[in-house]
Amino acid sequence: MGLPILEDLPPVEGKVVLVRADLNVPLTESVSGGMEIADTFRVDAAIPTLNWLVERGASVKVCSHLGRPSGRVEPKLSLKPVAEYLSGRLAGVEVMENLRFDPGEQANDPVFVKNLISGCDLYVNDAFGTAHRLHASVVGPPDYLPSAIGRLVEAEVRALAKITAEPERPCLAILGGAKVGDKISLLKALVPKMDAVLIGGGMCFTFLAALGHDVGDSMVDPDYLDICRQLIDSGRRIVLPTDIVAMRGGGQFEEEVAVFGRTIPAGWKGLDIGPKTRESFSSELKGSGTVFWNGPMGLFEDHRFAEGTREVAKAVADSGAYTVVGGGDSARAVRQMGIAGRFSHLSSGGGASLAFLELDGALPAFESIRSHHKD
Ligand code: AMP
Repeated sequence: MGLPILEDLPPVEGKVVLVRADLNVPLTESVSGGMEIADTFRVDAAIPTLNWLVERGASVKVCSHLGRPSGRVEPKLSLKPVAEYLSGRLAGVEVMENLRFDPGEQANDPVFVKNLISGCDLYVNDAFGTAHRLHASVVGPPDYLPSAIGRLVEAEVRALAKITAEPERPCLAILGGAKVGDKISLLKALVPKMDAVLIGGGMCFTFLAALGHDVGDSMVDPDYLDICRQLIDSGRRIVLPTDIVAMRGGGQFEEEVAVFGRTIPAGWKGLDIGPKTRESFSSELKGSGTVFWNGPMGLFEDHRFAEGTREVAKAVADSGAYTVVGGGDSARAVRQMGIAGRFSHLSSGGGASLAFLELDGALPAFESIRSHHKD
């Protein structure tokens, strides 16, 4: 792994430890008008590291971002509800205010870093969700303080490294989600390493269009047609849907849903993979050794277009392979279905897990710690 873990830190007793955690919890407004934590899973995930430090006599200062306040104080995005929640569970932990209330965090301002680390002796990064960001609290402190990764990040790195380094074969990636542009650099990096890449979701239509199919009103990104064509021609296995669930109408017209092959008539918009594709993707997944899945197969928020995502989720869980779900919408879908426990690993970072695979683990957060660490 090449990264120092908690046990590699100098003795923590009596020391002040700055922990960068991912406390970016969903909040809702309470009846009294204040904010409440809607789901505590991210804070709970930070507890093992905080506990480890507190039990060994450290004073802990935790910092995190919450939402997107874009460099201004927004009281509704205060970390106070998180501080209250944690104070009920752990003593000796101070939760700092939302890092992104100051523009210096996202700008990676060196003055902001100096203020952040002032009074601290050691640094622990346990925020996997932001490990791919060049933000002050992520990449700055290791220049000044002995540093290590926390338990959550350690588990993420171990799980994702099983895909990047000598995976059990066949090694498959199944990718979906809306925009092909968001994932094109990942695709370029991943396609040569995988035995097959299965593509669903909104991004499959740019590939189908690159093959010359008419895809009606489905989302196609013309800027990426050439790259999709090159990937298809690369000789690696890219498996595309053979049928599509599409819809027309809406607004003042009645909505109609129908299944088509790869060619979709004008006026229809592809919103999920079809039944034949669900079956072929499932049988591809059966016999695989390693599977990485990121992105829904369709507009899964609408039950009429959720079947592709649900069936792929089940097929990944049943594959018998080493399975990693790459955060974001796919992890949410799996939690909603109540089958989260059936995957080898559910990543806490959507963008970070994609960047980890693309960069073979060389995320800015880790490179910053590695550059000061001697094995
Ligand atoms: P992403 O953030 O790129 O992973 O995209 C996730 C979003 O893509 C979800 O909100 C899905 O509903 C949406 N999505 C997936 N497939 C389609 C599709 N065929 N057409 C429109 N939106 C889609």
